[in-house]
Amino acid sequence: MAKSAPRKKKPMADAGAADGAWPEERIQVAQTPWLSAPWAQFLALQQAGRLPHGLLITGARGLGLMSLARRIMAYSLCQSPITTPGAEGACQVCPACRLRLAGTHPDILQLLGSGSASGISIDDIRALIDAFSLTRYGPLRIALIEQAERMNRNAANSLLKLLEEPPAGSLFLLTAERADLLPATIRSRVQRLVVTMPTRPVMVRWLCDTQGVTEADAQMLWFMGEEQLISGQLPAWDWMAATQAWVALNEGHSGVLATVKCWQNIPRDTLARWLLRLWVEVMRVQSGLASEAPSQLAPLIGQLSRHDTQAHWLKCHPVLLEFLQTASHPLNDELALERLALDLTDPSLPARLA
Ligand SMILES: [Zn+2]
Repeated sequence: MAKSAPRKKKPMADAGAADGAWPEERIQVAQTPWLSAPWAQFLALQQAGRLPHGLLITGARGLGLMSLARRIMAYSLCQSPITTPGAEGACQVCPACRLRLAGTHPDILQLLGSGSASGISIDDIRALIDAFSLTRYGPLRIALIEQAERMNRNAANSLLKLLEEPPAGSLFLLTAERADLLPATIRSRVQRLVVTMPTRPVMVRWLCDTQGVTEADAQMLWFMGEEQLISGQLPAWDWMAATQAWVALNEGHSGVLATVKCWQNIPRDTLARWLLRLWVEVMRVQSGLASEAPSQLAPLIGQLSRHDTQAHWLKCHPVLLEFLQTASHPLNDELALERLALDLTDPSLPARLA
């Protein structure tokens, strides 16, 4: 089955996939404040015998949607799950659990991959449909589709047919950051489990207590959001240097080329999200609101907001959005960054040239 999607790093982990070993879970779903509610919702459905064929887990990136999905999967496949209230989970020792942990459970089908770069094609979904025609090992077969909004229209239509007439003993588990990008027809066929964004104090405390990060790092992780949030690990790229480069460009202390040289070390998608995050803070400060930025960034955001007018910054927004939208395009990095730096220096330029 994997051969149908050779361009993906990690296509479908089906029966016998050697690299599909179950990932070690770093977070305790039931003890994680923002995951415990959707987990309880799932348990309630399951215990009432009202588990639908399709579940859609929605929420922001970095909140552990996949951890929740994997916990649901493990529990559902386990042959003797622990049902003690508050301690529900897979037993980890039954034959089904052992197969799952080894990454060789034949009833687990996964379309993994995050980020906008790897889409889900109709071939991927067809491979999934084919897999459903095979004999099951246990009473339930689960298809997990990570970031289901990566499906193109044909793929979504194809999945819809499967959801409309789900094979007996099947569970479709979808995760999505942007559920609104999924066709309404799909959304209406699945029950939603919503992972809501915790407040800043809740998240910071959780990071300090369970992931062992310092308060300062926890504040920075909160500010950054995204995938690294619950990992408790700050990314390797230098966000201070990236921010300083923007300040220097803005104030005319360094040219476009120097800025490009600094920004080139950062994946375009990451850089785009970072600059947009800073932009929000600049707007906040200019509007007289308190900045949410950690203390080490506050002076730089102050410099950005003082140097230009709100009209200038408003024009920067479409520039940044366009840069984000084209971040996954196979453009020449240097050219894309050069254009970004030029446009941010004079955001009226693109309009003048058009
Ligand atoms: Zn088990």
